[in-house]
Amino acid sequence: MKKRDFLKTIGAGIALSAIPGSSLFAQHTASTKKDKNHTDLPTLECDVIVVGAGPSGITAAIAAAREGAKVILLEEDMMPGGATIDMFVTYMCGAPRTGIYLDAIKELNKNYSLSITPSKTIGEYAWDGKQHWWLPSSYTKVWDKFIYSKKNLQLICGAPVIDTIVATTGNRNTVQGVYVMRMGKLQKVTAPVTIDATGTGLVSAKAGCEFFYGSDAKKDFNESIGLDESDGRVQPCTQMYISQRTTSKSEFPRDVIKGGTLDHDDVLWASRQENEHFLKKDSGVYLHWGSTVEVKDTTDPVALAEAQKEALHKLKPHFEALHKSGYVTHIAPKIGVRECRRIKGEYVITVDDVLDGVMHDDKIADAWYSLDPWGMKVDEKLRNSVGPYGIPYRSLMPLNTEGLLTTGRIISGTRLAMSSYRVQPICGTIGEASGVAAAMAALNKCKVRDIDVLKLQLRLDALGLFDWYSQVGMNVNNKPWKK
Ligand SMILES: Cc1cc2nc3c(=O)[nH]c(=O)nc-3n(C[C@H](O)[C@H](O)[C@H](O)COP(=O)(O)OP(=O)(O)OC[C@H]3O[C@@H](n4cnc5c(N)ncnc54)[C@H](O)[C@@H]3O)c2cc1C
Repeated sequence: MKKRDFLKTIGAGIALSAIPGSSLFAQHTASTKKDKNHTDLPTLECDVIVVGAGPSGITAAIAAAREGAKVILLEEDMMPGGATIDMFVTYMCGAPRTGIYLDAIKELNKNYSLSITPSKTIGEYAWDGKQHWWLPSSYTKVWDKFIYSKKNLQLICGAPVIDTIVATTGNRNTVQGVYVMRMGKLQKVTAPVTIDATGTGLVSAKAGCEFFYGSDAKKDFNESIGLDESDGRVQPCTQMYISQRTTSKSEFPRDVIKGGTLDHDDVLWASRQENEHFLKKDSGVYLHWGSTVEVKDTTDPVALAEAQKEALHKLKPHFEALHKSGYVTHIAPKIGVRECRRIKGEYVITVDDVLDGVMHDDKIADAWYSLDPWGMKVDEKLRNSVGPYGIPYRSLMPLNTEGLLTTGRIISGTRLAMSSYRVQPICGTIGEASGVAAAMAALNKCKVRDIDVLKLQLRLDALGLFDWYSQVGMNVNNKPWKK
C-alpha cells in the first residue's frame, strides 16, 4: 500500500505528528541488520512462536502444542493472561464459549469462584446469563496449569518482542522469527510460523504489514452503517480497578460510585440492583469500569501513560469514598486499551458480515456478540441484533506476508466489526484456530496460506469448536463446508 493510500485508510483525523506514516512500514530493515550481530543470548528455535499471552495467544500456543508443534510463547508481562491480568478485564462477554477457553471457564468456576462455592447455574457450557468474573490472579493460576502441562510449550515472561526477523523477496516479506529483549539481553527466536497475538499488532507492524488505525468511513468497505467520514478515533481507554471490603462494618459508597460496577454471580450489574438486594447480597468485592479517557494514539506509550494519569486523577473521589467506607482498591497495572492496530489481511471483516451472520466458506471460528464500539453511537436495536457469524481464515493472514498469522482482536476487520469480535471468548476461539493452523503449516512445512483449509476446519470441528450452538439447543448452520 502506498503511503498516500494508507493515510486515506487511517483517516484525516489522526495527527500525523502522532503517527508518522513512515514509521508504520517495514521497520525491520535498519534494526535487524544491526541487531543480527549483537544478540547476547543463544538463538532459540521452535516450530511456532506466539507473541503475547492474552486470551488469543494462550489458546493459540496451547492448541499448537497439542497438535505436536514445539511452541515458544513470549510475553512482555511477568504473568500470562493479557488484558485479564494487566488491565483487569476479568469479565467475559459474548459467545460461543468453546474449546480451551471453555475449559478455563470451567476451572475458574470450580476452583476460584468469588462466592467460594462454584456457581451451580453456570452450566456445562458456561453460560447462564449471570455476571461472572474472577480475580486476575485466578486466571493466572488456571493458565499456568494449562501451559505447564504441555512439555513442548515454553512460556517466557518478561520478554518483550522488539523486532522481527524478515526476509524480503519482491513484494513479499517472510517472517522467520523475532527479536526478544530479556533483562536487557537481546535474543533471537526463530520458527517457520509466528503468531502475532499482541493485541497491538506490533509484530505485524514491525514485519512491514499494512494496518488500519481508527474509525473507517462507511464507503471504505461499503458498510451499511458507520461514519460518513472517518474521524480517525479509536475506542477510548478505561482504567479498571477492583474494590474489596476490609471489615464487616464496611458499607459500599453507592452514592459516590453509581455506574460501571459489577459484583459476581448475579443477573444485574451492581449499579442496577435495588438497594435492598444490593445490601442483602453484600458481595464484598467489586469490579469497576473506573474512568474512561480518549487516547489519540494507542501505539504511543507516552500517550498511554498520560491517559492513565488522567484516569487515575478522575478516580480520586472514588478511591477516597471507598477508603472512608472501609474498602481497599486494587488498580489495574495498565490502562485498558480497547483498540490499536488492525492488521490488513486477505479479507476484511465488515460490519455487514457481522449483522448478516455471514459464515464464509473458510470460516475457522464462531463469533456472537453485539456491536460495542465505545465512543461511537450505533442504534441500540441494531447493535443488539447481531446473531452468530463466522471468522474467515483469510482475516488472520496479513497481506503480502509469509510465516505470520494474526490472532485475537488485531485480525483484519473494520472498526465496527472488531467492536463485536474483540471480546475474550471470541478472541480465545480465534486463538485456538490460529494455533492449530500454525501447527499444520509448520509441521507440514508449508506456508500458512497454503494449508488445506478444509482439513483445518475438520480438525477444529473434531476438537468440538463448532458444537456450542447445538449444545445450547440452537439451530445454526455454522459448518459451511457441510453445505
Ligand atoms: C477496558 C476494557 C474493557 C473490556 N471489557 C471486556 C469485557 O467486559 N468482556 C470481554 O470479553 N472483553 C472485554 N474487553 C476486550 C478484551 O479484553 C480484549 O479485546 C481481549 O483481551 C483481546 O485479547 P488478545 O489476546 O487479542 O489481546 P490481549 O488480551 O491484549 O493480550 C495481548 C498480550 O500480548 C502482550 N504483548 C503485547 N506486546 C507484546 C510484545 N511486544 N512482546 C511480548 N508480549 C507482548 C501483552 O502484554 C498481552 O499480555 C475489554 C477491553 C478493555 C481494554
